Amino acid sequence: MARNVLIFAEAKSGQIRNVALEALAVGRRLAADGQVVAVVAGSSRPDGVEALSEHGADRILCVEDAALEPYTSDAYTDGLYQVVQAVQPDAVIMGHTAIGRELAPRLAHRLEAGLVADCTDLAVDGERVVFTRPIYAGKAYERREVTGGIVCATIRPNNFAPLPADATRTVAPEPFPVQLSAPRVKVESVTSKQLSGVDLTEAKVVVSGGRGVKSAEGFEPLRELADVLGGAVGASRGACDAGYCDYALQIGQTGKVVTPEVYIACGISGAIQHLAGMSNSKCIVAVNTDPEAPIFQVADYGIVGDLFEVVPRLTEAFKRMRG
Ligand SMILES: Cc1cc2nc3c(=O)[nH]c(=O)nc-3n(C[C@H](O)[C@H](O)[C@H](O)COP(=O)(O)OP(=O)(O)OC[C@H]3O[C@@H](n4cnc5c(N)ncnc54)[C@H](O)[C@@H]3O)c2cc1C
Repeated sequence: MARNVLIFAEAKSGQIRNVALEALAVGRRLAADGQVVAVVAGSSRPDGVEALSEHGADRILCVEDAALEPYTSDAYTDGLYQVVQAVQPDAVIMGHTAIGRELAPRLAHRLEAGLVADCTDLAVDGERVVFTRPIYAGKAYERREVTGGIVCATIRPNNFAPLPADATRTVAPEPFPVQLSAPRVKVESVTSKQLSGVDLTEAKVVVSGGRGVKSAEGFEPLRELADVLGGAVGASRGACDAGYCDYALQIGQTGKVVTPEVYIACGISGAIQHLAGMSNSKCIVAVNTDPEAPIFQVADYGIVGDLFEVVPRLTEAFKRMRG
């Protein structure tokens, strides 16, 4: 069944995010022979818009308005709602990012549409679209479908592979003027808490430290390993509470949710609240002195040992492998 699908192509720091390309891949699966329309929004056009056509967009709409910078849910809901009214899509997909988590329910409410949030898989069977999403902090999965009206969904980053880039697909971005209502909220300032170059929620490799790192300096070997692997550093709440690192790094139920290719947990016991944020990682490696630590129950590879000996050896080994 052909569907028209609208993708909200989120940008961060003036760059289209990878999750936007993942959303396009989902959009193409849903659309079949229908149209996939990507919408970008901001005070100016972000870099990398051409990647949207190379990765599957049939149309690219650019909503540019000074009121869209910095992000406010009011302005974005308003702008996206107007795009939906014009495009009349059968489905709206966006990333389950900090922005997507806030924007999607507001938009779905305005559209009186059903929303399935934080999807990690989907099955398309004729008219039916069944999404899979983790529940109970990742302990179980449920399947959900929207049975009427526009299908709205957010997708968890790093779970759907973007389509291979096709440089022959070139779609000229179209301006899409909107009339935004007067803002009810004014953002005075935005302080970025991202502490490394690689976005934690989109990183392919995450090296995380727990209370076992013992100090702020204890994170240094983890940063070196993450740098060699082109990854990001994360942390347990234990490490954040102890003041070893910023809460921006916290992974878990009350922190960020990550699904990297490789998650390396160093000195983390593996409390259920931590697992809620990382147990969907493709490969989990645990380094812990305690062979009984619960983290080993979810780990694909376990190293029983002192992280201050093991992590530098891993870093050296990867450095040698990478020449
Ligand atoms: C409502 C609620 C929400 C929560 N949300 C979160 C959340 O989002 N994220 C989160 O992480 N936690 C969360 N927690 C806290 C969670 O329950 C745990 O307390 C926390 O995850 C423990 O952190 P940790 O594993 O770093 O510390 P610990 O449990 O103290 O574990 C430290 C580990 O390090 C090992 N170790 C010590 N020294 C070394 C060494 N030299 N080398 C190798 N290993 C070593 C120890 O054997 C131990 O297993 C939440 C709790 C509650 C109640």
